Amino acid sequence: MARIVMKFGGTSVANLERIRHVSRLVEAEVKAGHEVAVVVSAMSGETNRLVGLVDELDADRIGNEDVHGGAIEDEYDSIVATGEQVTSGLLSIALRRRGVKARSWLGWQIPLRTDMAHSKARIAEIESSAIGPSMESGNVAVVAGFQGISDDGRISTLGRGGSDTSAVALAVALKADRCDIYTDVDGIYTTDPRIAKDARRLNRIAFEEMLELASLGAKVLQTRSVELAMNYNLPIRVLTSMAEAGDVNPGTLVCNEDETMEERVVSGVAYSRDEAQITLLSLADTPGMVAKVCGAMSDANIIVDMIVQGISRSDNKANLTFTVGKRDLDKALKALEASKDIIGFGDIKSDDNVTKVSVVGIGMRSHTGVAQTMFEALAERGINIEVIATSEIKISVLIDAEYTELAVRALHNAFELHEAGPLKVSAP
Ligand code: ASP
Ligand code: MG
Repeated sequence: MARIVMKFGGTSVANLERIRHVSRLVEAEVKAGHEVAVVVSAMSGETNRLVGLVDELDADRIGNEDVHGGAIEDEYDSIVATGEQVTSGLLSIALRRRGVKARSWLGWQIPLRTDMAHSKARIAEIESSAIGPSMESGNVAVVAGFQGISDDGRISTLGRGGSDTSAVALAVALKADRCDIYTDVDGIYTTDPRIAKDARRLNRIAFEEMLELASLGAKVLQTRSVELAMNYNLPIRVLTSMAEAGDVNPGTLVCNEDETMEERVVSGVAYSRDEAQITLLSLADTPGMVAKVCGAMSDANIIVDMIVQGISRSDNKANLTFTVGKRDLDKALKALEASKDIIGFGDIKSDDNVTKVSVVGIGMRSHTGVAQTMFEALAERGINIEVIATSEIKISVLIDAEYTELAVRALHNAFELHEAGPLKVSAP
């Protein structure tokens, strides 16, 4: 007998028919003799609908929110958390109607404790003294994902996509043998199959690679859930909920590096259209200049991602290009204008018609030639690189958004990702 956590995303519980189907998948694990906790998301589209209601009323505020009743994140949480309350109850009923003992658990009932950062709370602790015994006595625990209870006794939520993190954290707290994340795709792919038709499902991927891919725009798992799984060395399997119980459904195992079987240099190509590029012209090339720019951004709560500096030797002036999230662009430009005199620059240019394309692979630690292969593949297609950023296991480039698909396909080809097995890159 094993203890397993099964997580189902929004499309997997989109309607009663899907919920009945999920109840069959859960029943199969119970019949196999396992102790099961299930974590559910809201029905697909429901969280967006609830957020829409909140936003509409919030817009009644004109100008200064202090004058208009202050922040509303606490109420946002109590509203958007309802989606998961509904699906956890419905799945419990579906299970009981199949003769499987089950009960729903809301975040506060477990309790799953979080900090007070409403709308993006972090899990502090999960009590297992009630849910554990309930499972041991044969009840499937159907847990509402995404939600918890904060230090101030209010409902909290874990940020969009947070049910993945609920599932991993619960698996850690329950010392589960397995954490299976069911979704609408059958695993993690070498790249977006909508762009590269020959994209391939990976059997295994290392935590570090998944972390890069998750934060680079492959939206299958919430980044925090991968961090948590990596910290506790808890393997997660990503698999489709569309299969029938008993079907072959291997999915992708996200696990520790040494268990990763395919020894590839590059495992995947990711892209993100959520970037915007800012260039400051004619900066004084003096110590502290970049610090001032980054200071202005962090004061405005804006994350700066890629940075590149160019210096003209003739007049000792520098240009600085960096990227911020597309949603932060206006805020960033305003903040820069406001500190124009302190930073001391001539002009600002910006462009939000850009895409960040990245290749990721732990093999980069021990192989050279990856950058060369990447840049050549882009050059052959006439794709200009605006900014480059690298880490130990990733190379990202910023390009004109128009070339996104072309670049993704070119890189997928150049690294032969459609084929399983090791890849030859130019020898060191
Ligand atoms: N329902 C929440 C969302 O849409 C949480 C989740 O599905 O993971 O973000
Ligand atoms: Mg999700």
